[in-house]
Amino acid sequence: MINYQSVLQDTYQKICSEENTGEVASYIPELAKINPDQFGVCVKTVGGEEYGVGDWKAKFSIQSISKVLALSLTYNLLGDKIWDRVGVEPSGNAFNSLTQLETDNGIPRNPLINAGAMVICDMLISHTDDAKKELLEFINQICPDSKIEYSEKIAQSEKSVGYRNIALCNFIKSFGNIENDPQLVLDFYFHMCSLEMTCQELSNTFMFLVDDNFRSTKGEKVLDMQKAMRLNAIMQTCGFYDESGEFSFRVGLPGKSGVGGGILALHPDKYCVAAWSPKLNAKGNSSRGMKFLELFTSKTKSAIF
Ligand code: GLU
Repeated sequence: MINYQSVLQDTYQKICSEENTGEVASYIPELAKINPDQFGVCVKTVGGEEYGVGDWKAKFSIQSISKVLALSLTYNLLGDKIWDRVGVEPSGNAFNSLTQLETDNGIPRNPLINAGAMVICDMLISHTDDAKKELLEFINQICPDSKIEYSEKIAQSEKSVGYRNIALCNFIKSFGNIENDPQLVLDFYFHMCSLEMTCQELSNTFMFLVDDNFRSTKGEKVLDMQKAMRLNAIMQTCGFYDESGEFSFRVGLPGKSGVGGGILALHPDKYCVAAWSPKLNAKGNSSRGMKFLELFTSKTKSAIF
C-alpha cells in the first residue's frame, strides 16, 4: 500500500530545498503578476482518497489544461467526426506555431496545440447554443462541491496581446477549417484558457479519465471507455508541447500542462495528480511540476509503462 501523503511531503520538501528555476509566463500580462514561489500538489485515487501538499487549494489559471475539457465535451457531442478537422499526431513544434498549418492545409496536427484547440472551440460554437456557458456547466458537473469560473481579467489580458492567436485563427479560417467568425472563436478560446482551478479541483475533475465508475452530478458517465482511452493517448503523445516525449520518458503518464504552471497527469484505474508551480522551463512546462512528477512516479513505481 503506497503512503501517498508521505511521498507527497518528502518529494515536496526535497524540491523546495532546490533552486526554483525558470521564468513565469510573461507574454500574458496578468500571468506575469503571479507570485512565482507558490507550489502545490494534489493526488486523488480511485478509492476516493485525496492527498495534498503546499498550495493545493489555491486557484490558478489552468490555461491549456482546459483544452482537454473542451475536447472531451466536443468528442461526446460529435464523436469521431472531429478527426476530419483535427489530427492526432504530436506536432514537434511550439504550441502556437503557424508554420505546419501551411503545409497541412489548415488541419492542425492535434487538439492540444492552440490551432487544434481553436478548431475544437469552433465546433463547440457550431453545435451548442452558448459554448462558453455549456463548457462551464460541463466542468461544474464533473467537479462537484466547487464553483469553477472563467477569469474575465485573464481572458481580456490575453486578448489584448493575442496577436499570434488571432493570426492562427484567421489563418485556419482561410483554409475553411473555421466555420464561425474568428472573433467569436477567439473570444471563446481566450475564456476557455482563463479558467481558474485549484490542484484539488483539477485532480477531482479529471477522475472521469481515470475511473470507469465515475459519474457526473447528473449521474451520467462522462466518456465511454474507448473515448477515454483515446483522450489519454492524445495527452500521452501531445500533452506537453514539444516536450511530450521527455514527459513520457521521465514521468510515464498521460497528462497536460498549461503556461499558468499547472500540470495534470493521470494513471488510468489508479489516480489523478495535479501539480502547480508558475515558473516554466524553456519548453513552457512548469519546472517544479515536471521535477515533482518525475520523482513521484519513480517513488511510487506507478508510471504506466
Ligand atoms: N492561452 C495560452 C495561449 O494561447 C495557452 C497556452 C498554454 O497554456 O499552452 O497562448
